[in-house]
Formats: sequence, C-alpha cells, structure tokens
Amino acid sequence: MGLVVQKYGGSSVADAAGIKRVAKRIVDARKRGHQVVVVVSAMGDSTDELIDLASEVSPVASGREFDMLLTAGERISMALLAMAIKALGSEAQSFTGSQAGLITDSVHNKARIIDVTPGRIQSSVDEGNIAIVAGFQGVSQDSKDITTLGRGGSDTTAVALAAALDAEVCEIYTDVDGVFTADPRVVQSARKIDWISFEDMLELASSGSKVLLHRCVEYARRYNIPIHVRSSFSGLEGTWVSNEDPRRARGSAGEKSQQGEQSMEQALISGVAHDTSEAKVTVVGVPDKPGEAAAIFRVIADSQVNIDMVVQNVSAASTGLTDISFTLPKSEGKKAISALERAQGTIGYESLRYDDQIAKISLVGAGMKTNPGVTATFFDALSNAGVNIELISTSEIRISVVTREELVDEAVRAVHSAFGLDSASDEAVVYGGTGR
Ligand code: ASP
Ligand code: MG
Repeated sequence: MGLVVQKYGGSSVADAAGIKRVAKRIVDARKRGHQVVVVVSAMGDSTDELIDLASEVSPVASGREFDMLLTAGERISMALLAMAIKALGSEAQSFTGSQAGLITDSVHNKARIIDVTPGRIQSSVDEGNIAIVAGFQGVSQDSKDITTLGRGGSDTTAVALAAALDAEVCEIYTDVDGVFTADPRVVQSARKIDWISFEDMLELASSGSKVLLHRCVEYARRYNIPIHVRSSFSGLEGTWVSNEDPRRARGSAGEKSQQGEQSMEQALISGVAHDTSEAKVTVVGVPDKPGEAAAIFRVIADSQVNIDMVVQNVSAASTGLTDISFTLPKSEGKKAISALERAQGTIGYESLRYDDQIAKISLVGAGMKTNPGVTATFFDALSNAGVNIELISTSEIRISVVTREELVDEAVRAVHSAFGLDSASDEAVVYGGTGR
C-alpha cells in the first residue's frame, strides 16, 4: 500500500474533540497499512481571529509579520494533532511548512510554491511515523522568511506534498461529503458528485464554488494527482477529482457496468456555482472607436486589478457612444474606480457606475459542448424564476450570468432543478464550520 496525503480543514479540527476524532481517522488509515502524511489547517476560525487581532494593533497589517502571525494558527493544530495521535499509541511528528520543504517565492501573504523538498517528511514516514505538516505556509527561497500561500492555502500544500512524495491520492477532508452539484448551504437537494474531471472542477472553482481552491486543482491537474474530497465527520465515499472517471475506465475495459453508464450521463452538467464576491463597474459614454477598450483595461491592469467578465453594449447611432461593463472582486473596487477617475481625461468617458449588489451564477459541464439547448434551458429557468440577466459570459464548458445579489439563492435553485440535478435523498449535509 502506498502513501496517502490527508488534509483536514479548520472546521474538522475546531476543538479538542475534533482533533481527537481526526486523530482516530488518521491512525485507522495508518493501521490499514498506508504511509500517512497529514496537512492540517488552523483550528476553526482562528485564522480570521488572528487577522482581527492584527487589525486592532495596526491598520496596515500585512507582509512579513502578518505571515509570522498567521502561520502560528497551523502550528497550534499540527502539534495538538501529533499529541492526540501519540495518545492513541501511534507515532507522529509535526513539521512546519519550512521544515517540510515548502519553498516559495518571497511574496508575503500570497506566496507561490516554487519547489518542494520533503526529505524530512519522507524519512519521518519511512521510520514509521505519521508526519503532520502545517498547511498554508512555506519559506522564501531568497529572504528565508516565513511566507503564507493565501487564504485557504492548505489544500495547495496538500496537493504539492502529494506530488512531491508521489502519493497515491490526496484526500481533502472537509465539513461536507464532497463536491455537490450546488452549494449545499443554498440548495438542500444538491447531489453529491461521485467523479468530476479536473477541467470541470477548475471551472466550478473559478465560478465561486468554495469546496476546492482553483490553485489547488490546477496544481493537481499539472502533476496528475487524484483528489478525493470527503467529510471527516462521516465515513462516506466522497468526490473523486481526476483525469478520468475510474468507473468509466472499468466500463471501457469490457464489462460496461450500470455505474459506468450513469457517469457518462452525468457528464452533461457538473453543477451550478454562484459567487457574491464580485462587483460591477460600468464606464458610461465611451467613444466607440478603436483603442478605447484598450485604454480602459490598461488603466485597470496597471493598478494590479484582475477582472472577470467584460461586456460592451451596442453604441447608440446618434451619439457614437457606448457603455463598457466589467466585473471584478469587490475588494478591488475602490482601487479600480480611483484609477479610472484619474484617467478620465485621457480615456474620455462620461461617467462611472459602481454596483456591488450583484451575483454571478454559472452552469458548468463539459457536456454542453456537444448538447444544443443548454443555454436556452438555462435562460428559461432564470426567466421562469423572474431573474433578470445583466451580463452574460461563456466558455466552452460554462455559461455565467450576472444578476441581483438578492435573487441569487432562488436563481441557483431554479437552474439546479431545470437541469434535473436535484437529489431525491437528503444527502447534502453540512456537518460543521461557521461559513466564515
Ligand atoms: N488557515 C488558513 C485559512 O483559514 C489556511 C487554510 O485553512 O487552508 O485561510
Ligand atoms: Mg481555515
């Protein structure tokens, strides 16, 4: 039996009881014969609490000291988890990200992993230990300072270690039973997905699905590490994220099982994601001539703001003016608006509108490439629910619309039912977490 990497999120280790429960699971996996490397997040909402604390002592908390502070959260959980495992009679050792060989660039608060040299972890497991690694952190190659990978970065730590240790699988334990066809916090009848491709999962992640971070899925795809997303609160099989459906592979090998057929059918639509973290900027009265859009988006790019959807309206023949709208993270709204205001003279638009009461709803599935009518069904569902569409964007395997934020739950449910994704059984259980 090979090596497995297991990652436990904050809600799975929220208190002493949680840590003991997780320790038991880990020891069970070890007893089944696996070598086990565990990546752990900070307990419960403790990262947010540390951030709150930092903002009380300094309005500009960021950079080196901020990373020093935040990595403390994971150090607490890793040590406690190692103690809990030892209390169960198994051997465990905890390691910081730096000790585990997570080498990053020196961009504090959102460092990128540039190398993983897990020699100490490999020796520790070879000696029979369970190795516990603090998630979401590393050490800068240049400055040797401690860095963090950005919020939710422990998933990326886990996948990166799984790749470097050539693990069989990276198991991501969370507070729901897997990846669902919609956020189980919004759609009670959401269905657990048994298998999803890296591509569909990447689209879901970039469309607002929070169960896995885009970056972690991207990393897993690059190194072809299967991810198994499952709950630490139940014993159920979760969702496999990988290149190929294992059941389908079985089917094509001759015995075409019922499950195999089912999974092919499921490939049409993977799920519905929603995102309320974006805002919409409309640049009103832009001269309809070459170079205008370029000028606007150059200004935005120069202020280091990432945008998402872009729409240009048809210009009014009488004025020769058009409107350009785009979406961006709410957190970047102020920066973008002030950059555009400064450039009003050179760009030559009439006015700006800023709207942060929007929501984006996306339908994702590779099957839409070959199935006509998906877009029509999607828009029908929204109109039947009385949801007005403000912006539309598509990729080969995704359709997204922007609508009013207050309609988001209704819109998601309507689309979810229209594509027959509702589950008959109540499988969408949320076991823990405060949703913070
Ligand atoms: N503790 C960090 C956070 O809350 C990292 C993680 O949970 O993955 O963002
Ligand atoms: Mg967390």
